[in-house]
Amino acid sequence: MPRPILATIHTHALQHNLARARAAAPDARVWAVVKANAYGHGIEHVFEGLRGADGFALLDLAEAERVRGLGWRGPILLLEGVFEPRDLELCSRLNLWHAIHSDPQIDMLATHKTHQPHRVFLKMNSGMNRLGFTPARFRAAWTRLNALPQVDEISLMTHFSDADGARGIAEQMTVFATVTQDLPGERTLSNSAATLRHGAQSLSTRLGGLRAAADWIRPGIAVYGSSPDFPEHAMTHWDLQPTMTLASRIIGTQDLNAGDSVGYGSSFTADRPMRIGIVACGYADGYPRCAPTGTPVLVNGMRTRTVGRVSMDMITVDLSALQHAGVEAGYGSEVTLWGRARHGAVLPIDEVAHAAGTVGYELMCALAQRVPAIVL
Ligand SMILES: *Cc1c(COP(=O)(O)O)cnc(C)c1O
Repeated sequence: MPRPILATIHTHALQHNLARARAAAPDARVWAVVKANAYGHGIEHVFEGLRGADGFALLDLAEAERVRGLGWRGPILLLEGVFEPRDLELCSRLNLWHAIHSDPQIDMLATHKTHQPHRVFLKMNSGMNRLGFTPARFRAAWTRLNALPQVDEISLMTHFSDADGARGIAEQMTVFATVTQDLPGERTLSNSAATLRHGAQSLSTRLGGLRAAADWIRPGIAVYGSSPDFPEHAMTHWDLQPTMTLASRIIGTQDLNAGDSVGYGSSFTADRPMRIGIVACGYADGYPRCAPTGTPVLVNGMRTRTVGRVSMDMITVDLSALQHAGVEAGYGSEVTLWGRARHGAVLPIDEVAHAAGTVGYELMCALAQRVPAIVL
């Protein structure tokens, strides 16, 4: 028998979550964001669940090739655009739309001997100060692009820094709308948080009535069933379902006396007699090493907590209140690290991430290669 750890990707949940994103922006088309190997799920594993999207957005040219290899003929957008001139060949060959966020990218396009003109998404830095042209330089970039025979259609994009928080999106939307008001082309602004929290928001008609949903939304994390603004709102608030379950089994148990400690560094000491279970899952599987004692976990669908330090291949969980859990006839109880237990109980990835001081995004993306995955 292989080591009992397994990741399950839930196709129905992907479809459901995609529908939730659509419902929040009913007039917009949807880019399903599948960067980082579909947030750790595996592009091939999510394709069936997400093929109802209007396009796929990602960063890596090799990932774009994989999406085309699955038979997808619709739009694909490179969110960071090209990295070197020869990437443009692949854009031509695979018909990839690409972001333009810098002058060197325009230079590359200007010297590219293309046959089919390119569809580009000109990116504005409206306040996040990562990629994009500043408002002051945006129109000059647009004019330069518009003069190139290599360019077919210019769409306009920006990205919000605080869509999940108190600051919101209004300032950045206003900057974007002010600069782009009389430019033609489709617009895309909103990630998951902006779509779910502000999808219906729009600016005054004086600013062109720009809507946060615009022509295209770009949801990523919500499609994967993690709340973009946890802990303010949990996944159930947004009616999202978990798309990745990480499950394993108890492979051993120990009875502790008061004063006994557990694991490396003896970081946990029992203050009374306890029973603990050893789970075949550790940081080499993608479980966060910094998850402290008390991180939630399900055993046979019932909630308990981790105790002691996460090691490379194992964690330890408190079974004191779970009499029937353990290893019987060599077969250990089901442990759900996050996602859905066999009988339906859900442990949101956001709760595990929060306990470990991180976000659901990081846990999904860190799922290790060595964990086998199945698609339901
Ligand atoms: C990753 C990314 C998204 C998706 O963000 P989520 O928070 O996962 O919804 C959208 N737009 C851009 C430019 C991105 O890089």
